[in-house]
Amino acid sequence: MVNERMTNEAMDKLVSLCKRRGFIFPSSEIYGGLNGFWDYGPLGVELKKNIKEAWWNDMVTARIDMVGIDSAIILNSRVWEASGHVKGFTDPMVDCKECGGRFRADEIDTTPCPKHKEKMVCDCKDNLTEARQFNMMFKTYVGALEEASSLAYLRPETAQGIFLNFANVLATSRQKIPFGIAQIGKSFRNEINPRNFTFRSREFEQMEIEYFVHPSQAPEFYEYWRDMRYQWYLDLGLSKDHLHLREHEKEELAHYAAACSDVEYDFPFGTSELEGIANRTDYDLKNHMEYSKKDLTYFDDEKRERYIPYVIEPSAGVDRAALAFLCEAYSEEQVRNDKRVVLRFHPRIAPLKAAIFPLVNRDGMPERAKNIFDTVRKRYNVFYDDRGAIGRRYRRQDEAGTPFCFTVDGQTAEDGTVTVRDRDSMAQERISAEKVLDYLHDKLNID
Ligand code: ATP
Repeated sequence: MVNERMTNEAMDKLVSLCKRRGFIFPSSEIYGGLNGFWDYGPLGVELKKNIKEAWWNDMVTARIDMVGIDSAIILNSRVWEASGHVKGFTDPMVDCKECGGRFRADEIDTTPCPKHKEKMVCDCKDNLTEARQFNMMFKTYVGALEEASSLAYLRPETAQGIFLNFANVLATSRQKIPFGIAQIGKSFRNEINPRNFTFRSREFEQMEIEYFVHPSQAPEFYEYWRDMRYQWYLDLGLSKDHLHLREHEKEELAHYAAACSDVEYDFPFGTSELEGIANRTDYDLKNHMEYSKKDLTYFDDEKRERYIPYVIEPSAGVDRAALAFLCEAYSEEQVRNDKRVVLRFHPRIAPLKAAIFPLVNRDGMPERAKNIFDTVRKRYNVFYDDRGAIGRRYRRQDEAGTPFCFTVDGQTAEDGTVTVRDRDSMAQERISAEKVLDYLHDKLNID
């Protein structure tokens, strides 16, 4: 299904806005870029930081049953044997004998042909090779010798670092089952066909939770996490009309999973996964016990029961969340004779919370505006802009998704008030210059 609100043309506009306003740039751009890699600019890094902070605050800090870790990206290679990634982290790949392109065999119906833009890859069926399995883990070598014994992988998910530290966390954190361990960090997948802007990248960030439960409680905690993770995106501004929970069919489930749901979003290029929530049973801990020969069981000292916990895993992508928030926020409006582009971000994730302007650069206005700026920036990420016509400055902030703009003008010297302009309604009112921080605090309602 294609998102009706936003055509592919609008998606192109969003991509160009991201570049123009410093959200997202192609990586290594001055060398021609590198397919599947992206850099976040000054606004993009704030957007991503706000998403990660919202997740960490809501999933870890605000909860008594969660702790966080930050594990290494490169782990002992045995980890990936135990987890099944060395053998099974593959996608089926086909080659086109005509153009030399390589494609995911399960996506040929929706992947445009690089040579004939009007066709899909599946239209070149006669030129496609048989599908073969391609392992998506990036390889590297640890130490000076490039030999089999020093082979290592860049992690394709953050989850395994959590399982490896299960016993460490248990021994040091006073947590008792049910409890969870959270981690945010980079993951790497050598995707056959990176595409749809940042949606499918080769380097990306994940926000993952492994929530450890008694096996008998796994179904109820699975439902709990599935519903609460879905709600989290709604609370941050994704619309119910564009956000779906899709329960996997039995045949679709990974062999170790007892249940799995995807939180899906209607992107302009189709409805696609934002996050997966799975009941992974005791698969991971059991395999790590077998391969490492270490005890990863849990002992419940009240019930005098020893068992291998089941795990509920909500696994989200920061970059996909950022892209969904950008798509949701993007809107174009006709304002009199002018077109206005505005990013209607939820205040919690807006990169800038406010902008402060002097109307003109004289009559003490810059000094007064800078005073306000200095006060407010101690608390919020705000922008000072003294260049260009005021209308253009408002438009620039609309494109950045900044909820409020405060302007110091001639009246400020007379009665100590400034103009505040609302991003969404464009309504303006006057408030006391001394109350700017309180006003923001009330209106943003985010801390
Ligand atoms: P897909 O089917 O789209 O390849 P997946 O099911 O393999 O995704 P998971 O292994 O469940 O993805 O990873 C959890 C989350 O990590 C995904 O929901 C997504 O948000 C993010 N993610 C996975 N692969 C990528 C990627 N190549 N680029 C950006 N984010 C990704």
